[in-house]
Amino acid sequence: MNFDTVIHGGTIVTADGQFNGDVAITEGRITAIAETLDGGAERIDAGGRLVMPGGIEAHAHIAQESSSGVMTADDYLSGSISAAFGGNSSFIPFAAQQRGQSVDDVIATYDARGARSVIDYSYHLIISDPTEEVLRDQLPRAFARGITSFKVFMTYDLMNLGDGGMLDILEVARHHGAITMVHAENNDMVKWMNRRLADKGLTAPRYHAISRPELAEEEAINRAIQLAKLVDAPLFIVHVSTAGGAEIVRREKFNGAKLFAETCPQYLALTREDLDRPGMEGAKYMCSPPLRGHDTQETLWHHIAMGTFESVSSDHAPYRADATGKFLNGTDVAYPKIANGMPGIATRLPYLFSEGVVKGRITPEQFVALSSTNAAKTFGCTTKGRIAPGMDADIAIWNPDVTHTVTQADQHDNMDYTPFEGMVLTGLPEVVMNRGRTIVSHGALKATEGMGRFFGRAPVDLRGKPGFTAPEFDPSQNFGSVLR
Ligand SMILES: [Zn+2]
Repeated sequence: MNFDTVIHGGTIVTADGQFNGDVAITEGRITAIAETLDGGAERIDAGGRLVMPGGIEAHAHIAQESSSGVMTADDYLSGSISAAFGGNSSFIPFAAQQRGQSVDDVIATYDARGARSVIDYSYHLIISDPTEEVLRDQLPRAFARGITSFKVFMTYDLMNLGDGGMLDILEVARHHGAITMVHAENNDMVKWMNRRLADKGLTAPRYHAISRPELAEEEAINRAIQLAKLVDAPLFIVHVSTAGGAEIVRREKFNGAKLFAETCPQYLALTREDLDRPGMEGAKYMCSPPLRGHDTQETLWHHIAMGTFESVSSDHAPYRADATGKFLNGTDVAYPKIANGMPGIATRLPYLFSEGVVKGRITPEQFVALSSTNAAKTFGCTTKGRIAPGMDADIAIWNPDVTHTVTQADQHDNMDYTPFEGMVLTGLPEVVMNRGRTIVSHGALKATEGMGRFFGRAPVDLRGKPGFTAPEFDPSQNFGSVLR
């Protein structure tokens, strides 16, 4: 056999085991795995290294306007480069529909933006205006093109669909094998808190965390799940930040709901006390849902270890701490006028490896599942997320022993801060490949603009998720076929 590349002498880690061996790559795909392989035009020595599937970042905001019109600092070039330095071989950012915009127009807009990417990419849609045409024609057309997931919001006045709107869109998704992702926070609870805080003149960044109570997330997660169960539709809860929310997810998964969920490093690494930093420093730590307390961190780690979450995603939402981002409305403004979100696309995997694997909270196999394999399964990335013959050669070679301190200069994004600044982490990706091409090698970028390719995705994989039949929809209950 003539191999293009052989990765030699590493420890290959998959979601279900690890073994010493060689990986051969030909024309961008993995073509052989064996104890030893000869040949290879290029041979990469992986002695003492872990050879793992490259990360799939399934929650990132790249070249995306928020509903209030703030553009992210990262486009598909800087965002994908930063992702690659953080051990990712592909990513699935959001393509956001503005009110009144057709889904076809959204996709055309993001196709133009995505063309700059150095790694493979796909999109989740964000749907804010589910008109009859969107539900009947435009979404099915997007699904047929392999854009098989989309996010909706239960909060923000410009985004919130209401429960009836949620049911309509969940049913359309189920019918087409697509998955609905949801940002679950109770809109009226947040608005009520905002009014109460404003009346008392409490407007500093720290009150952002107080304005979005843990109960608002727990209530909305529970409601979203019951809505999805009524129509037996798959549902993905993004960025779970509370112990109560995680507990509901765990219980409903155990009961068989077609349910998926993620949490994010910021909820594990930071707390609401970070919003108390002096001046407007706290604004850098504003995200929604907000950072919580210390107790929540260990509870979320427990849920990660016990399998409550499919993935740990970054929710990279890069708004600079200047007039282009956080402070578009000025620096001396109340928290509701400050952009929400923080960067983390490059720190997601080094943080999860160091705090998870190195500290013994999760196994290396769980790290692979949480960072790549599960996202591939959930979101239908059929050629990615596994080291196996025939798969895309999306591979990250990690040095598990090297210790480094996180600094903004190492993020390679267009941001002016990282909320993880100064953290000391162990383990780093040294070589990151996408379809056999080396994108990053030992701290140097090897890719050029536009090398990434769009990939379409298969319908959501529901094996192991039996679902739920509401009695009112159960044919054996004789409630009449009118509802079905
Ligand atoms: Zn997000």
